[in-house]
Amino acid sequence: MNYYSLNHQSPKVDFRTAVLEGQAPDGGLYFPEELAKWSKSFIENLHQLSATEIGYTIMKPYVGNSMDESKLLAVIESALAFEFPVKQIDDKIFGLELFHGPTLAFKDLGARFFSRCLSTFVENNNKQTIVLVATSGDTGSAVADAFFGMNGIKVVILYPKGKVSSVQELQLTCYGGNIISYAVEGDFDDCQRMVKQAFNDPDLYASVQLTSSNSINVARWLSQQIYYVIARAQWKDKSNPVVAVPSGNMGNICAGLMAWQSGLPIDSFLVACNANKMFVDYLVNGKLQAKETIPTLSNAMDVGNPSNAIRIIELFKRLNLAETSLLKGFSITDEETKENILDVYQQAGIILDPHSAVAYASMKKHLEKETHKKGLILSTAHPVKFPETIEELIQKKIPIPHQLQSVMAKKGTQNTIRADFAALKEKIFLLV
Ligand SMILES: *Cc1c(COP(=O)(O)O)cnc(C)c1O
Repeated sequence: MNYYSLNHQSPKVDFRTAVLEGQAPDGGLYFPEELAKWSKSFIENLHQLSATEIGYTIMKPYVGNSMDESKLLAVIESALAFEFPVKQIDDKIFGLELFHGPTLAFKDLGARFFSRCLSTFVENNNKQTIVLVATSGDTGSAVADAFFGMNGIKVVILYPKGKVSSVQELQLTCYGGNIISYAVEGDFDDCQRMVKQAFNDPDLYASVQLTSSNSINVARWLSQQIYYVIARAQWKDKSNPVVAVPSGNMGNICAGLMAWQSGLPIDSFLVACNANKMFVDYLVNGKLQAKETIPTLSNAMDVGNPSNAIRIIELFKRLNLAETSLLKGFSITDEETKENILDVYQQAGIILDPHSAVAYASMKKHLEKETHKKGLILSTAHPVKFPETIEELIQKKIPIPHQLQSVMAKKGTQNTIRADFAALKEKIFLLV
């Protein structure tokens, strides 16, 4: 399987090169040349397969010859080493809990799959490998945990200063060792711009093996298909679920769409956004217009210009379909987010985090009109990551899961950096 750049100026590459480069040399995102289709028997027998077997069938065509069978199986098994349960929230809505991994957010799976691929691919590399990551909150900690202690790989994390929760910041800054994090004096889009500039910098290109672990990396992006399939295997209702995905940079929903086009039976997808709604507007007026980032309670979705939007557009172009045939957009206010957290807590005793609550609120609105359908929301983070918002609302302390207890015992160190590429470049050269 080869990957082409969506800017169409770089050569096609295999999975290994696409993972190592992150982004194509022409600045484009990589996209697979072929779209995998799954057999009917795979879909019909999902409930009998292990998570590793499901993951292998999904990833094999996209990894191609870059890894042999036993290696790929080992990578998948190790990446999937936690639970992905589907739980009932109310009479019509179910939640896929994606927050049982080491950093309590859905990004653990993609980050773990990516780190294990990368460590295989750089085994005999003579340049220093540096993973550069811009994070609006959860990516950074998932990547930090996934790479912590790995030989020969250093991780540099950029996050917007003062715009992540205190728990998130501790998760970003507590590792040390091969994990280096910077609080950028700017917003997430500044962080992302600095990362993009680093990839286009000839000096850095010459001296380090720089790779991106943002959701633009194909290893992260495509492996996220796996839990959509694991969830569908647990789906008991006869009708196909409407799936609501809390969306920011749109890598997660784009993975769901890939699974759907491969044959996964899903009714439709809801693009669940907060006030940052570039793609929601696109679905209405057909115009892709970057916006200023607006800070909200669901901060991991505060993205004014989502990178993966163009992948979704490419996918629908390849399928010769209109996006609106399958996707519906919702923009949920902070007020609605809080209302829904409180409602669900009072009625079901379940605590949704602000991101999952955006998905739940979108689904509620949708099912008011589509009354005969059932919904599956992706619960993307554990509520304990957002104590500031939630505990005041529900008037209760959230029990701390074991993954976090060990982090809470540590101390983080905040390193501040200007929102300026030159400052970042200087720091990177210190690591070589
Ligand atoms: C990153 C993140 C999102 C958004 O996912 P994208 O793939 O960027 O659309 C949603 N919820 C949580 C908790 C996140 O960390």
